[in-house]
Amino acid sequence: MNTQLAANTKSDYVVAKFGGTSVANFDAMSRCAEIVCADNQVRIVAVSASAGVTNHLVALCKADLSAAERDEHITGVVAIQEAILAELSLDADLAHGFNETLKAFQNLASEGAKSVAEQDELLSFGERLSSYLFTQVLRAQGLDAVRFDVRKVLKTDSQFAKAIPNVAATAATAKEHLVPLLDDHVVVTQGFIGSNEHNQTTTLGRGGSDYSAALLAEAINAKSVHIWTDVVGIFSTDPRLCAKASPIARLSFDEAAEMATFGAKVLHPATILPASRSHISVFVGSSREPQLGGTWIEKEKSQQPGIRAVTQRKNQILLTVKSPEMLLASGFLARVFTILSEFNISVDLVTTSEISVAITLDNAPNASRPELDQACLDKLSEFCHVSVENNLTLVALIGSEIQLRQQEMNLMQVLSDFNIRLICHGASKHNLCFLVEQSESDEVVQAIHSRLLESQVAA
Ligand code: ADP
Ligand code: ASP
Ligand code: MG
Repeated sequence: MNTQLAANTKSDYVVAKFGGTSVANFDAMSRCAEIVCADNQVRIVAVSASAGVTNHLVALCKADLSAAERDEHITGVVAIQEAILAELSLDADLAHGFNETLKAFQNLASEGAKSVAEQDELLSFGERLSSYLFTQVLRAQGLDAVRFDVRKVLKTDSQFAKAIPNVAATAATAKEHLVPLLDDHVVVTQGFIGSNEHNQTTTLGRGGSDYSAALLAEAINAKSVHIWTDVVGIFSTDPRLCAKASPIARLSFDEAAEMATFGAKVLHPATILPASRSHISVFVGSSREPQLGGTWIEKEKSQQPGIRAVTQRKNQILLTVKSPEMLLASGFLARVFTILSEFNISVDLVTTSEISVAITLDNAPNASRPELDQACLDKLSEFCHVSVENNLTLVALIGSEIQLRQQEMNLMQVLSDFNIRLICHGASKHNLCFLVEQSESDEVVQAIHSRLLESQVAA
């Protein structure tokens, strides 16, 4: 907890974040600009790269691209910018910066980003470009908007591709460089990117713009963060998977954090951290239909017990390490986790037996770096037997005080039709998780939603 921040009084400022589909083209950007114009408490706007751009940039980071593939991805990025530019006339200050940034992108993308630092630099261009364009769209609607390079204030460590923010340094630099702009301007800045102590560009991981918005809100003592996306709030499950998924009007910080952690892609998993530690409320709504409202996430005094949502996270790896030496021995788990931490691997679920420990890890296909590499497996193999299973999905029931009394029988019945690989319950009152075969996971989620959630009225 940053006591300096807590001691400061909260401003009335709101940070608004617009995701990739919300800034995908000129019309989408114009709808977002209307949202900003309608709320004069919105003083910082954090934008994502236009939809599709970061996927091109991730592809451009791959070492084994042919010249034709490289060209195709560069052209893809440029075409998205040009389609928006065709509807806008950039003011001189923005035109200069935009053109320089586009040139820098084309140079680095053509040469190829070899180091992890260069790869983060390459990944940063999506947000850097969209923020120029969005600033002009706001100006076209009469706002006094300025573009601000977030790397000046959002300070992180040097773990490229999944950098950890430095909250104190971010607050201090924001106070100096960002806060003075807020009285007279709407500041348009970038989600997803930051910089380390040497001012090299870093990124916060895929989907990280939500997290950026919450960090900026914390740094300027804002009262809330508005996450504008392509769905009218957080639903009882991914609405693309279940037609009967229903929007949830209110969630506690704990419930929302669990949903984000366990796969509700609508929020980056770390978004709730700054919000809950600094008492910043979070709203999630649709930039296409802002009039429909959305989900408010706040600290709640009493939470309604029971299951509120079901989520899934695909592409999980199950790593099992086994050693007869573990029997009655101490230090085995510490040794395993020390190695995982040396390789910067973040572990999700853990179950143990007397001689083995099973651990789940992410293997997201669009991540800019694989989670588990051979060097780590080799190191573990020096003292235990290691096995790796792929193509699994982590399914989680989320709520509060999940005890499953009445629902237990229903759940067990639903699950009996499927092959369940591992179950975890008890470490948190807010979730119950299990692993299933990826090929069956959509069906598992649909079956759980239909049997356990569709009878409930969303609150
Ligand atoms: P953005 O580009 O605005 O950041 P994302 O694609 O990252 O948007 O997140 C929005 C998507 O999250 C939705 O289109 C939806 O398919 C997905 N999603 C997954 N789980 C949920 C959920 N429980 N509630 C709402 N949306 C969800
Ligand atoms: N543009 C980044 C991504 O697609 C960050 C974000 O949109 O949140 O992952
Ligand atoms: Mg997102």
